[in-house]
Amino acid sequence: MGIVSELAMSCPELWYALRADDFAYTLPMRQISLIISRLLILVLAIAGSVFAQANPEWTEPFPPFRIAGNLYYVGSKGLANYLVTTPQGNMLINSDLEANVPLIEASIEKLGFKFKDTKILLISHAHWDHDAGSAMIKELTGAAYMVMDADVPVVESGGKSDFAYGDNAATLYRPTKVDRVLHDGDEVRLGGTVLVAHLTPGHTKGCTTWTMQVTDRGKTYNVVIVGSPNVNPGYKLVGNTSYPQIAEDYERMWRVLKSLPCDIFLGAHGSYFGLEEKYPLRKEGSAIPFVDPSGYKNFIIQKEQDFRTELARQKPAAK
Ligand SMILES: [Zn+2]
Repeated sequence: MGIVSELAMSCPELWYALRADDFAYTLPMRQISLIISRLLILVLAIAGSVFAQANPEWTEPFPPFRIAGNLYYVGSKGLANYLVTTPQGNMLINSDLEANVPLIEASIEKLGFKFKDTKILLISHAHWDHDAGSAMIKELTGAAYMVMDADVPVVESGGKSDFAYGDNAATLYRPTKVDRVLHDGDEVRLGGTVLVAHLTPGHTKGCTTWTMQVTDRGKTYNVVIVGSPNVNPGYKLVGNTSYPQIAEDYERMWRVLKSLPCDIFLGAHGSYFGLEEKYPLRKEGSAIPFVDPSGYKNFIIQKEQDFRTELARQKPAAK
């Protein structure tokens, strides 16, 4: 139902053409071939949509490893999870899909830590690929779930109150109770480590970029874990009645991201910061390849440019 209604919304002309029930038997060949080509487009659109929602890389295992200090990568190839270890238990960023939870657990245990020691669960933002497994992780570990204020209604409704995907059944998940509501600039502390929650809204209303400091071989690094700067296909930046301030929120995000000091550049998906390219460099024993301040700057410049292009494209259409 989600995909069909999405198609009806995104391409109403095609939708109505295909719904016409009086075309049979009497149509000339030209119209029949037109209908066939439209059917092909429909099939491709549905296939594309299904693929987008079930990217095989999301559940493809990736070797867990220490990034720096007490910060570890425990995610899959396509979805990033971070474990922050402390003497008083551990913090986990992102829960991914429910199908990812056993992978996350296996990664944590492989590094020699206990999944059950997860005391705090955090997310990058309230989209199913980062938070659908949260209910399961809470049940398995008893972790306290801490979420940015504006994403709390989405998390607690299992995705139903999301401004863009709320009526898309494929993106919904188990509603999950939030134990602590976070606000911009709040600190999450455990066992001597501090994570700071920065509100970087637009992609979701409560999209969160996490920062922390890690010390590795005597050096201290500023870590930035980007929430998401993406303008997804179908996002309305102009005249969005369910998120009127969306464009202003993206503007706020660019300001915040540019203001954060960054040595170690990370994010909600490995593709943001080149996980697959940087991982082998680490194995060869070179300097920490995730120290990449210029990669961080370039990423923001590129993403902001994409946003401005899309905003300019939508503006004349709204007049
Ligand atoms: Zn997202």
